[in-house]
Amino acid sequence: MAVGKKGNSSCGACPALCCSGLEERVKRPRTKYEIDNLLWQLRFENINYFIRNRFWYQLILGKCVYLDANNLCAVYERRPDICRDHNPPDCEYHGSIYDILFEQPADLEIFLAKEKRLKARKKK
Ligand code: SF4
Ligand code: SF4
Repeated sequence: MAVGKKGNSSCGACPALCCSGLEERVKRPRTKYEIDNLLWQLRFENINYFIRNRFWYQLILGKCVYLDANNLCAVYERRPDICRDHNPPDCEYHGSIYDILFEQPADLEIFLAKEKRLKARKKK
């Protein structure tokens, strides 16, 4: 979410990254069904997932309809609170919003296989 650049000098040359994707906290997939479902979702080009501070998020890529051609918020004065609360430098333009990013099914498969190997090693 965003301040839509306007009104905040720290937004500088940012192309309004925070108005170009929607992140939603989700439960970590644990069962085979949940993992299969997430793998299937990652086949859609505008769906990513990421982990930040051990929490899992779904990231839907796509611009807010209120973002204008100049990457400014067309409803700035009445933008939602969630946009007002999102400010630089605590945002994706000034630092990464994720620790691990899953852009395609293979990313998640590799992550889960690695995690399984680590768990097996710890048990020894
Ligand atoms: S991502 Fe950060 S720098 Fe870019 S518009 Fe949003 S708040 Fe401003
Ligand atoms: S309402 Fe405005 S500030 Fe909020 S996401 Fe849309 S364009 Fe960005």
